[in-house]
Amino acid sequence: MKERLELAATLNRDRELLDRVQRASGVSVKDCYQCGKCSAGCPAAFAMDYTPRQVIRLLQLGMVGEALKSHTIWVCAHCQTCYTRCPKEVDLPRLMEALRQEAKKAGFIAEKNIDIFDRAFLSSVERYGRVHEMGMMIQFNLQSLQPFKDALLAPPMLLNRKLNILPEKIKDGGAVKRIFAKVRAGNQGGDEH
Ligand code: SF4
Ligand code: SF4
Repeated sequence: MKERLELAATLNRDRELLDRVQRASGVSVKDCYQCGKCSAGCPAAFAMDYTPRQVIRLLQLGMVGEALKSHTIWVCAHCQTCYTRCPKEVDLPRLMEALRQEAKKAGFIAEKNIDIFDRAFLSSVERYGRVHEMGMMIQFNLQSLQPFKDALLAPPMLLNRKLNILPEKIKDGGAVKRIFAKVRAGNQGGDEH
């Protein structure tokens, strides 16, 4: 009896998770008919544990936890190749992003450095309206506990003006900050439901 109750609870949780991921991404996983065109064209598939097609298959089978724990959802570069090739217009990049968000909430971050890089990139854009590469890389190196990673590349890049020591701000930085605030407010609203 206890095992049955546990199984029912797991199935319910997986169904709720799948509903949330489908709502957030606008993708219905039933639309995919497993032709594999997405995986065949994906430039990052070589580094994934599950191909994009297999991630959708996991969701179709209700194995949401397995998808959340995968490296694939972090390795996806959101390049849109799969989306443009898909005969059913399944928006895989948005699906991968929704899975990432749920994985973070559940504490499954299979690629910690990619998560750290994402946060460093976004905080730089929020602060200056554009990326300040030098600051972003310093933040990434410190948070990923590899302070001297690629440090020898900095001097020649500075000499060739490929890097700026000081950040440059855009004119209307407030507009970018408002976009971030709006997205945060939207996410909080979504969490409450
Ligand atoms: S290309 Fe589209 S329909 Fe084909 S497997 Fe990928 S997501 Fe599914
Ligand atoms: S968006 Fe992601 S899954 Fe799709 S082709 Fe690009 S890297 Fe692969």
